[in-house]
Amino acid sequence: MAKDYYTLLGLPRDALEADIKKAFRGLARQLHPDVSDEPDAEERFKEVVEAYEVLSDSEKRQVYDRYGHDGLRGASGQSGGGFDFGNVSDLFSAFFGDDLLGGGGRGGQRRAQRGPDLAAEVAIDLADAATGLSTEVPYQVAAACDTCSGSGAKPGTHASTCGTCRGAGRVQQITRSPLGEFVRTGTCPTCGGAGKVIEDPCAVCRGDGRVVQEKTLRVDIPAGIHDGQRIRISGEGHAASGGGLTGDVYVRVHVREDERFAREGNDIFSTVDLTFTQATLGTSVTIPTLDGDMEVAFEPGTQPGTLRILDGKGMPVLQGRGRGDHRILVNVVLPRRLNDEQRRQLEELDRTLDDEAYRPDGGFFSKLKSAFR
Ligand SMILES: [Zn+2]
Ligand SMILES: [Zn+2]
Repeated sequence: MAKDYYTLLGLPRDALEADIKKAFRGLARQLHPDVSDEPDAEERFKEVVEAYEVLSDSEKRQVYDRYGHDGLRGASGQSGGGFDFGNVSDLFSAFFGDDLLGGGGRGGQRRAQRGPDLAAEVAIDLADAATGLSTEVPYQVAAACDTCSGSGAKPGTHASTCGTCRGAGRVQQITRSPLGEFVRTGTCPTCGGAGKVIEDPCAVCRGDGRVVQEKTLRVDIPAGIHDGQRIRISGEGHAASGGGLTGDVYVRVHVREDERFAREGNDIFSTVDLTFTQATLGTSVTIPTLDGDMEVAFEPGTQPGTLRILDGKGMPVLQGRGRGDHRILVNVVLPRRLNDEQRRQLEELDRTLDDEAYRPDGGFFSKLKSAFR
């Protein structure tokens, strides 16, 4: 029986992308068969990789959330063993910290001078998306080591050119794992991509030149932001190896759903229940809006299905002018139970209500006719 992917990674079902990545890295390091002494490490390692393959892919994750393991079977024909290692770079980076060193794929060249970008996430309420919000987002970032000023060498010493890669920083690399052999041009294992070897490494950063820091980022979220949009904060990402420009942070904003409203573009939708007497006699009802509670009057004879539009009470237009509308759909609720006396009174009322009482007034055609009268 296949194990639950969330349980395998020790995560709740609503885990954020960043948590999934973090949990996977921790487990991958702990369970890698070359490292772990645990007897079932290899088996567990495979399970964790499989779980990560699914949960790190938003489409596969959705399928898994809805249909479980059965949903993933067949669709991509990858059940039972042979995984599709779309995210194999994540597996490598779990061990080699590649993404801390800079995005791969730049041939035999020396490392880029710019530090890698970083992804962070924040969840906000719809009401805050309507007004805009300044908030703090915690994140982990590789920052230049203070002790060695980012050089990686113990203060007072210097680095020498790496003999393995002759200063290039990258070599062809073969890695054996329980999942097979991987060959790729990768970061030089001797120098970690720096092209230089530090004989006397800095004790604080162990020669990397950078240390992982917990930081918080102040993010100004503009009014009208939509779920899933990203905000770029330049220069707050990872430090570059060897002290170049710092990368950027992309903060993905998740806008939580509000049980009172539905959002569609810049418009807000809600429903209101009127009793049949309220709808018939007319009434005034308190309606929650993005601007707080509002008294909204409904005229006598309000019909179910009526759409009441509050102009300009919707979401602000992102980086634009004005606001969408708030549309209120009227639902009329009828009594479900009457006692004998109520029933008698209603029957009596019904006898007095003729066609005229039910005739629609002021419809489109009658307005058109009166315009020509
Ligand atoms: Zn250092
Ligand atoms: Zn090297």
